[in-house]
Amino acid sequence: MTESEDIAEIRRAVQALCAEFPGDYWREKDRDRAYPGEFVDALTRAGFLAALIPEEFGGSGLKLDAAAVIMEEIQASGCNGASAHAQMYIMNTLLRYGSAEQKAQYLPGIASGELRLQAFGVSEPTSGTDTLSLRTVAVRDGDDYVINGQKIWTSRAEYSDLMLLLARTTPRDQVQSKTEGLSIFLVDMRAALGNGLTIKPIRTMMNHSTTEVFFDDLRIPASSLIGEEGKGFRYILSGMNAERILIAAECVGDAKWFITKATDYAKDRSVFARPIGQNQGVQFPIARCYAQMRAAELMVHHAAQVYDQGGNPGEEANMAKLLASEASWAAADMCVQTHGGFGFAEEYDVERKFREARLYTVAPISTNLILSYLAEHVLGLPRSY
Ligand SMILES: Cc1cc2nc3c(=O)[nH]c(=O)nc-3n(C[C@H](O)[C@H](O)[C@H](O)COP(=O)(O)OP(=O)(O)OC[C@H]3O[C@@H](n4cnc5c(N)ncnc54)[C@H](O)[C@@H]3O)c2cc1C
Repeated sequence: MTESEDIAEIRRAVQALCAEFPGDYWREKDRDRAYPGEFVDALTRAGFLAALIPEEFGGSGLKLDAAAVIMEEIQASGCNGASAHAQMYIMNTLLRYGSAEQKAQYLPGIASGELRLQAFGVSEPTSGTDTLSLRTVAVRDGDDYVINGQKIWTSRAEYSDLMLLLARTTPRDQVQSKTEGLSIFLVDMRAALGNGLTIKPIRTMMNHSTTEVFFDDLRIPASSLIGEEGKGFRYILSGMNAERILIAAECVGDAKWFITKATDYAKDRSVFARPIGQNQGVQFPIARCYAQMRAAELMVHHAAQVYDQGGNPGEEANMAKLLASEASWAAADMCVQTHGGFGFAEEYDVERKFREARLYTVAPISTNLILSYLAEHVLGLPRSY
């Protein structure tokens, strides 16, 4: 794949920034489960998190394909873009479906770093993957909506000023199609905290700043609604394609990190008086992971290009996410195996990246659900649920 000089320049700039945040920075944050605020600030100052914001609002107006390269390089450098990735993929819903007033109100502040858009409230404890059964409701009352319900796994909610929220505005038994009656809101969490919004952190196996969020008669202005009431599920699906493509790019970056780390170690580590990498039993798993990663990388760029041309790459985005998350997880496992006992030692960063990479065959959508989408919507097999 030959890249343009612009893309190569983006890669070099991200690498230079990430070099300021080496393994010991991430190890310390991981140990304390602390938010890597300095890293996110540096990404913001450099303009990377405003990559998708049009130039007229203070961003760089790049395409999704370029944004994917930014996220890939962050991961390939050993850093953890999960601390900031939502700003890029949430942005797409605001860009595609937000009104001119909403864009003018929020985008310049997000581009300058004054406003953080890092929280995405979709998942709920009872409905799980079955998004259409979600229970959080938003009821219109004069010039406001009143929100009641609960979200789970709302990552970065403590470190965000705005949340993109999916809630039901028409009861499920009053809509013709079950995909109708859900709406999207841009919630200003600064005004909401303590006035009907409560955030409770969840400690997980890796450092992810994820939370539970409770809405108890939270009043938000009706102007927080994005697009038309009741059409939120359609909007969110389009935004989810961008999310899947960006997460897939991160997985490609992780796979590259694991492959480089394993290759370097296999050349360097000598056992039985020769480098372990001279044994085909060690070489072949690395080579297989490389081939898997390259195939996933091609699908990620293809999906991003379809998206950038204004298309709806449901099939391509899902396949990119499936292939890339499996490639990164295979590479993570291979990297631990190649390192033997040292794969478990904190100072090599392999075990940290291994824990971080495990997430992506589960979230933001699990492998089974992608297979189900391909089986039903692409291959025309009978619906299973
Ligand atoms: C660290 C972390 C961060 C997250 N961040 C966010 C966030 O910021 N915002 C947000 O909204 N969500 C977030 N999520 C939620 C994430 O998107 C969900 O966990 C994920 O979509 C899976 O949903 P679930 O956990 O409810 O699993 P469930 O729906 O309970 O599913 C459990 C298992 O059963 C399988 N399964 C379920 N139904 C079927 C079926 N019909 N056929 C075959 N298999 C099936 C699933 O594939 C899965 O493996 C996060 C999750 C984690 C762990």
